[in-house]
Amino acid sequence: MELTVLGCSGSFGAAQANACSGYLVRSGTTAIWIDCGGGSFGNLQSHIDPEDLTAVVLTHEHPDHVADIYGLHVLMRYGICSQNFPVYAPEGLPTQLGALVHNDWGNTFDWRVISDNQKIVIGDLTLTFARTDHPPLTYAVQVEGDGRRMIYTSDTGPKWNVGAFAPEADLVLSEATYLHSAKLSETHLSAHEAGLAARTAKAQRLMITHLWPRVDANDAVAEATESFGAPVEFATPNLVTSV
Ligand SMILES: [Zn+2]
Repeated sequence: MELTVLGCSGSFGAAQANACSGYLVRSGTTAIWIDCGGGSFGNLQSHIDPEDLTAVVLTHEHPDHVADIYGLHVLMRYGICSQNFPVYAPEGLPTQLGALVHNDWGNTFDWRVISDNQKIVIGDLTLTFARTDHPPLTYAVQVEGDGRRMIYTSDTGPKWNVGAFAPEADLVLSEATYLHSAKLSETHLSAHEAGLAARTAKAQRLMITHLWPRVDANDAVAEATESFGAPVEFATPNLVTSV
């Protein structure tokens, strides 16, 4: 199983063209684009022809996780005339996002509802969802394939953590929006909290993402490394790693 980071900036894009949340997970011929944050679609095209995507997963409604779904819609509807492409999303999202397409998605997408504890098989990958501690309906995603397992926290506050899934995941990709001493909101994790949760869940590897653009990445990595108890990786656009 391979993970490609397409964007990792939390809440809004950062300098040096750091796109918002987007991740490409591949195994065999299966390719799933998880979260379509602003700028992630451009990066995606450096790694895969969009026509070779198997499905899209949107974890929640916030713009930094969904903005580029409109670009995919335009390409598929008017560019390559694709139909019924599977898009997995929380209840109500097609209607909420539909305002910008005059409530007409055509037949481009086959919208499928995700829910808490739901397990679905998409090609070679098995996805399981868990409702996180974040105000809109938000789902963390566990992806299993090739006997390997990664957990993406999406956005969450500290009242949910990766311990909701089985321990010892091969990779935890965790949001770590703030430094602990400067949290602006309890709807997100600090780097300290991300490290502690991954340590408690006995994660094999921790990669932090979704940093507030004004947070220094080196400081966040240092803070997470201390609480995780082992070196922590940092998601950057176009990083490719085996899980
Ligand atoms: Zn969010």
